[in-house]
Amino acid sequence: MLRAEAPGAAAELAGVEYASMALITLAFRRAETALPEGSGFLVPPVDGRTIKASTFASAKWGWIAEENPGLVVLRTSVGRHGETEILRRDDAGLVEVSRHDLKAAVGLDATPVATRVTRWQDGLPQYPVGHHARVARVRGHLASLAGLAVCGAAYDGVGIPACVASAYAAADQIHGDLHGVQELTAHPVQSLHGAAGE
Ligand SMILES: Cc1cc2nc3c(=O)[nH]c(=O)nc-3n(C[C@H](O)[C@H](O)[C@H](O)COP(=O)(O)OP(=O)(O)OC[C@H]3O[C@@H](n4cnc5c(N)ncnc54)[C@H](O)[C@@H]3O)c2cc1C
Repeated sequence: MLRAEAPGAAAELAGVEYASMALITLAFRRAETALPEGSGFLVPPVDGRTIKASTFASAKWGWIAEENPGLVVLRTSVGRHGETEILRRDDAGLVEVSRHDLKAAVGLDATPVATRVTRWQDGLPQYPVGHHARVARVRGHLASLAGLAVCGAAYDGVGIPACVASAYAAADQIHGDLHGVQELTAHPVQSLHGAAGE
């Protein structure tokens, strides 16, 4: 979208790499399901598991518990940057590996009453060393183009709170107020999990 007006910014953004992932949503009978307290857990790569996180959706979001009485709904995510092999598995295979890792992590051994796999191709921008400087260069390329500002997951943090913050900052920038953008530049929020919690 920026190529014609701001080729320098477009070239910088074309260099941002993205990870693909899949979400595996599982519903269990509440009577058969005992989960630890909390809203879920993260799995660091050094643990050698396939799932990279699990969100106890029924515990995290009240509306999910309310709309699914008698059930516990949770999700796992798979697919780290550069690891696309796992995403070639079919849906049943992803459910199976999720159940395996959930059993190992929290002892969950029940049989799900419903499952759904949602695949996100190139869904998560990656923030390698130097990303912050890249974003500054993008904004530098755009600085002379009045009425144009950028925001979203590729800039100041991939978590929804960070995306919302960058959207407010971009809207303010359009109106000539650079305070929000300067604040983000000084204090970028770079972690999905740090910003929002999985
Ligand atoms: C599987 C997954 C799980 C996540 N879980 C969490 C979580 O638990 N907590 C959390 O805080 N964050 C989470 N995130 C991150 C967060 O959801 C995203 O980073 C955020 O929603 C991105 O917002 P965005 O507005 O930048 O982009 P998007 O929400 O992707 O919006 C971009 C929009 O632009 C449209 N678009 C694209 N190209 C064009 C074009 N050329 N012309 C017109 N429109 C176009 C797209 O259709 C889309 O609607 C998750 C992300 C993924 C993929």
